[in-house]
Amino acid sequence: MAGFQSFLYSGIGCTLGTLFLVGCQSQTSLVGELPSPNFSGPVAVQPAARPLPPIVKIQPVAPVKVTPPKVAVAGVPRGWVPPVAARSWQAIVIHHSATPVGGAARFDREHKEKGWDELGYDFVVGNGTDTGDGQIEVGSRWTKQKIGAHAKTPDNWFNEHGIGICLVGNFDGGRPTPAQMRSLAKLVAYMMRTYHIPADHIVGHGDTKATDCPGRLLNVADVRQMAAQILVAEGVSPAGNPRTASSREMLTDVKEK
Ligand SMILES: [Zn+2]
Repeated sequence: MAGFQSFLYSGIGCTLGTLFLVGCQSQTSLVGELPSPNFSGPVAVQPAARPLPPIVKIQPVAPVKVTPPKVAVAGVPRGWVPPVAARSWQAIVIHHSATPVGGAARFDREHKEKGWDELGYDFVVGNGTDTGDGQIEVGSRWTKQKIGAHAKTPDNWFNEHGIGICLVGNFDGGRPTPAQMRSLAKLVAYMMRTYHIPADHIVGHGDTKATDCPGRLLNVADVRQMAAQILVAEGVSPAGNPRTASSREMLTDVKEK
């Protein structure tokens, strides 16, 4: 946890190395950000400063003794319950694939081609291309409870403690489908309840480092609110996720429709 406290955003833009280590693509073009040419005299042309992304300041929380169910419970897909001892997950990191089509099998191939061990995410939510619209696929590393390969940071905290969920699509160019958002909220709510993850530990990839992922049209605040509504509807009291004041406020403020 001390390592996480030292987590800092330490640079602008993505290095080539970084691109190999993230599960989505940065599509920033510096060309469009250059100032107009000035023909009246020699001018040192410099790229405009890229605005820093919002960096979430997640406060480390005391580990909770997690005893997830050993068998599938009613309404919960069996694959969501790992067959091996669960890690002590403390956050959820949401990604987009930055591609119009995809699914776990395709991304698994692509990630292996990059030299990774296997699919970097824990879950993939389809958009009706490779898999059904809103279909949740369980990644192979979730089944093994391996740490993630989707949110590299200097101390690797988000890979070690964060559940990686990727929605197929490019949400700089369009929104997630309603079915994708419903499935995402259901999965997030289940993980919040099972692993006692507070709402303010639900973050977008861009909250952990400088990346456009998961796109400006995927609103993580909406995901938090939808998941909180599910928890309230399930009768999970705010005390069910007691780690932070903000999670209590989030859950208390939700009004059932
Ligand atoms: Zn990402």
